[in-house]
Amino acid sequence: MPDIPSYTTISLNNAITLTDQLLETAAMSGASDLHLEPLPQSMRVRMRVDGLMQLLQPPFDQLPAAAADAIVVRIKLLSEMDISESRRPQDGSFQWQLDGKQMDIRSSSLAGHWGEKLVLRLQWQQQNIDIEHQGLSASQLKIIKTQLSKPQGLILVTGPTGSGKSMFLYSCLKQLQTPLINIVSAENPVEVALFGVHQVAVNEVIKLSFSHILKALLRQDPDVIMLGELRDYDSADVAIKAAQTGHLLLTSMHTSSISEAIHRCYGLGVDMLSLSYCLSLIINQRLVRRLCEQCKQPMTQSMLDNITGQEWIDAMDSYDDCFGPINPCIAEGCEACHGGYKGRFGVFDLMLMDQAKRDSVAQRRVTKIEYDAGVRRQGFWRVLSGHTSVAEVNRVTW
Ligand SMILES: [Zn+2]
Repeated sequence: MPDIPSYTTISLNNAITLTDQLLETAAMSGASDLHLEPLPQSMRVRMRVDGLMQLLQPPFDQLPAAAADAIVVRIKLLSEMDISESRRPQDGSFQWQLDGKQMDIRSSSLAGHWGEKLVLRLQWQQQNIDIEHQGLSASQLKIIKTQLSKPQGLILVTGPTGSGKSMFLYSCLKQLQTPLINIVSAENPVEVALFGVHQVAVNEVIKLSFSHILKALLRQDPDVIMLGELRDYDSADVAIKAAQTGHLLLTSMHTSSISEAIHRCYGLGVDMLSLSYCLSLIINQRLVRRLCEQCKQPMTQSMLDNITGQEWIDAMDSYDDCFGPINPCIAEGCEACHGGYKGRFGVFDLMLMDQAKRDSVAQRRVTKIEYDAGVRRQGFWRVLSGHTSVAEVNRVTW
């Protein structure tokens, strides 16, 4: 990979330089997380790139104990953690700069059997969160923009951990940003700072929960409210009341499907009739890795013949070129990518509410077959358009 620094030696005597080298290697690889893990006599260093864990290149994959200790102290100092505390978990954050670009880094420490492990979440400040770049088809984009322009309702984004729900909610808020409406949010934590949005972070230490923040935000004359996650009865109850009383509410839920989200709401004790009337749109999403533009090649006919299954046939029958002409590809990997992939995009399924769907939600008749095949179908469409692989669609949707 041309942009990634290839240090041949590590600066064992200088914790500052060594920390910078690790951060630079991870940042230039496009990593979202950096893991510093204690082993008996050393420290293993891994990173998560496009959702998958990998070791750093040698010599950074395993550092001697002395260097490891110095790096832990350095990062804890930067993160404003207590360096004398190594048994209790700690959280912190700092900003770091590379070639004039700012990165927000959130650190967390947790002591385990072999010592203290640090995990750093890396986030560039100038990342592209425009809703047009999330991976939606033109018709899905139109539906979402229409729902975002309405003065009230509830938009629920579902998907498992790491499926891109937070970034999608941020892209919606960015789409809505204007001085003419008051946008507020309750988050845990604030991952992307948005200009002109009053973002409040959950703080367990002072017992500031989602529902507490939500109740306070409702007294701040909001038009649009983003609630990071719907996970208990209190916050769900306040959210539904807000959505029923002239506010547009955007939130997310950790469930793998739309039907599971409906059943989870019921399990929380939510009044399903109220929910069915304020829901305007439910979105289910996954992130798939994008085939590398530099090394991808069209699939041969025999490769295509090896793809079987009714879902694949249905996807071919229903594809309307919404992501471009049919050109399924594979990628072997090159200097510019990670094993044939570079970057990720979303695949989506939308359930736009109408009277029949409201009845289904109120009576919990949303079945798996009815609404959960959509994400996989869109994934297969993206295979047909040459943007990802069948293996990748299977990886994130099974
Ligand atoms: Zn490549």
